[in-house]
Amino acid sequence: MTAARASHALDLENGRVVVVGGGLAAARLCATLRRKKFTGTLTVLSAEHVPPYDRPPLSKAVLAGERDASPLPFDTEKLAVDLRLGVTAVALDTDRRRLETTAGEVEYDALAVATGATPSRLPGEGPQTTLRTLDDALELRKQLVPGAHVVVVGASWIGAEVATAARAAGCRVTCVEFGAEPLSGVLGDEVGATTRGWWTGIDLRTSTGVTSVEPDGVHLDDGTVLPADVVVTGIGVRPDLAWLAGSGVALDRGVLTDTRCRTNVPGVVALGDVAQRWSEHTGSHRLAEHWDEASMVATAAATSLLDWEQGPVHDPVPYFWSDQFGRKLQYVGAHLPDDVLALDRAEDGSLLRATWSRDGLLTAWLGVDLAKELLAARTAVGSPVGALA
Ligand SMILES: Cc1cc2nc3c(=O)[nH]c(=O)nc-3n(C[C@H](O)[C@H](O)[C@H](O)COP(=O)(O)OP(=O)(O)OC[C@H]3O[C@@H](n4cnc5c(N)ncnc54)[C@H](O)[C@@H]3O)c2cc1C
Repeated sequence: MTAARASHALDLENGRVVVVGGGLAAARLCATLRRKKFTGTLTVLSAEHVPPYDRPPLSKAVLAGERDASPLPFDTEKLAVDLRLGVTAVALDTDRRRLETTAGEVEYDALAVATGATPSRLPGEGPQTTLRTLDDALELRKQLVPGAHVVVVGASWIGAEVATAARAAGCRVTCVEFGAEPLSGVLGDEVGATTRGWWTGIDLRTSTGVTSVEPDGVHLDDGTVLPADVVVTGIGVRPDLAWLAGSGVALDRGVLTDTRCRTNVPGVVALGDVAQRWSEHTGSHRLAEHWDEASMVATAAATSLLDWEQGPVHDPVPYFWSDQFGRKLQYVGAHLPDDVLALDRAEDGSLLRATWSRDGLLTAWLGVDLAKELLAARTAVGSPVGALA
């Protein structure tokens, strides 16, 4: 990210910070700003109708019926936050420092963009469900009844977790995946193939594309039509950037920021799933789209809002997890498709551990039910592969 930025100063006592988005990143940012003695006005605009909550349990415990909610600690009174629910930002004027929202104009001195991401949908007129909000999860859960035919499109993280819940609920599950193996988009075919055995009892159709979802079912690229009671589309997410068009904030697939969450516009930071943050690990701007990033980034974002010129860099070794088919997968680092792969298999031949390296240095580690190795792996990323032994 280019470094040339005009200065920006925020009055600690009387400044007005507006946070757009009411998810994990927003909640953590508000708490951090108050911890850093910011006593000015703090306003959170959230398109949702409920206070911030945690999303990972939605596709796990909530879908499994083990809990109905997953609230985040966010005490608006204690934090003195003006939380405006059901309010969507629709345009941004950075010259006048003003937001246009569905509930009128809002002025700010410093702005945080924390609007997350929106699931991609398939073309077609038929009903399809995506899983992003608590309402999505509660609605989908009602439909996961014994014998229902559930077609899951996408065998990546969300697809695998939904398939897990649907199978456990006694549904008949078909999963259609464009890649050659489950999880192959992120982990590659060789690693993905070692997870295939986990899909027992599910009609898993790989190397198969979906052309559309129509009222008569899911239309596949080989001409097959899969009738379905429920279609769940889990093909990835994208930040919704339309409202930032013409604002002067530099955009790519997400909002471009440096390692301190600063955009090219002084006084405007972006964080969480919406941010395409510079990373020294990969030498590129990356969308992180994981809980750990949205949770840990608040310190850098808050410090930049309070002191534009100096502050801590946020560029940790990336981490995410997924719970699927009774297993916990944990991944640290960031590998490229042509990194050197080493695979360890469990007794049943399925995936146990994978490591990737480049020029002899560990780039990423993935473990299945190996939480006890995680810390060492995280520390070892960037070191010679032997350091992990
Ligand atoms: C079902 C599910 C399971 C997941 N499981 C895992 C997991 O196992 N491991 C993992 O690492 N990560 C997981 N994640 C990812 C993790 O939850 C996200 O990375 C994290 O929630 C991102 O937080 P955020 O605050 O950036 O965005 P969000 O939590 O999406 O919050 C953004 C908020 O902004 C609001 N908003 C959007 N546009 C506007 C606007 N214009 N005006 C006002 N408000 C707006 C949205 O409605 C939303 O409330 C999962 C995500 C989902 C959906």
